Amino acid sequence: MFTDTIDALDKAKRIFDHIADTFEEKNINPSPLNYYIWYSYIKGDNPRFRQEMDSILKDPYGYTDRMGKRLYDDYLTDDDSSSTEFDRAFRRLIDLMVQKMNSWSSKLETHTAELDRCTTELADPDLDPKKVKIITDTVLNAANTMKESSVAFQEEMNQSSEEVKILRQQLIEARSEAMLDELTEVGNRKMFNNTIEEFLMNSEEHSDSLCIILSDIDHFKKFNDTYGHLVGDSILRYFANLMKKTRSVDETICRYGGEEFIILLANSSLEKAAERAEQIRVSLEKAHLKRKDEDKPISTVTASFGIAVFNGTESAEELVSRADKALYQAKNNGRNQTVLETELKEV
Ligand code: GH3
Ligand code: MG
Ligand code: MG
Repeated sequence: MFTDTIDALDKAKRIFDHIADTFEEKNINPSPLNYYIWYSYIKGDNPRFRQEMDSILKDPYGYTDRMGKRLYDDYLTDDDSSSTEFDRAFRRLIDLMVQKMNSWSSKLETHTAELDRCTTELADPDLDPKKVKIITDTVLNAANTMKESSVAFQEEMNQSSEEVKILRQQLIEARSEAMLDELTEVGNRKMFNNTIEEFLMNSEEHSDSLCIILSDIDHFKKFNDTYGHLVGDSILRYFANLMKKTRSVDETICRYGGEEFIILLANSSLEKAAERAEQIRVSLEKAHLKRKDEDKPISTVTASFGIAVFNGTESAEELVSRADKALYQAKNNGRNQTVLETELKEV
């Protein structure tokens, strides 16, 4: 859902910029209504509306505000219930940008009215020559202020792009938080599900080899029973940190559930994945853990590992199930070891 919003916002910003360029080129008033009409035209899901716009646009300067209003009344409804995530993102963006444009154009109107007044006064044949200087000064002042506010307006528009970027960043952070395991701060099961689908697709497209390492802490129940649940939690955090500290860019680490973790390894052969699992296994075995509260050592913590490689066509479940079989074998062989799926005995 978050991904959809981020993508929609990015896409909306590109379309908004494209429409803004077209409006400038064709001298069309950049009002929210016109943006919405143009967006609906690009979207093209109403053929009759599209046809009529096509014929209006044959004349490069044929589109007017009045025409826009009629097209809107004739063809476009404001039914939010049928809006997609993208429609809504686009509307939010229009509101944000147009709000800034409006505040600028009201300033512009004030100055334009002042200029009109000066022009009328200058056209008066009985004008006192002394007043000419005052009026031309007023004209120059108004022109300068307009120039300055045009620069300020440009800055505000750039700032809107910044706001879009910030909004985008906030959505990314919210999404990451929703996919993080609170206790260990590695990915959660949702992150695993999302990532594995992406990985399998990439792997199919680029025929990269993808491995998964499934790990499970040995006799973890006994640690909980002996030292209590809080110490058990600390062990889980320690194990997750150990993996995180040595992670490569090709890895995604997730808590699969309870005391089971899974590493997705892109661009990796079974042998490379086995090396990585062994590195983690040995580090954990060698760690001298002690309780913070009592400064007393905890007996050695170990884990078992099962590894499988993506065969190019299977589902995520099939891949995980083979890693799980390898892990089960590692447990049966006496724990604290790594088993590759190729080492599984046929039964
Ligand atoms: P094995 O070597 O066969 O894996 O034995 P085990 O005791 O590790 O396996 P089992 O599945 O019997 O026990 C897993 C335990 O992990 C049981 C459960 O209470 C504990 N556990 C699961 N999640 C958490 C957690 O978040 N915190 C703590 N402290 N314990 C947890
Ligand atoms: Mg388990
Ligand atoms: Mg276990």
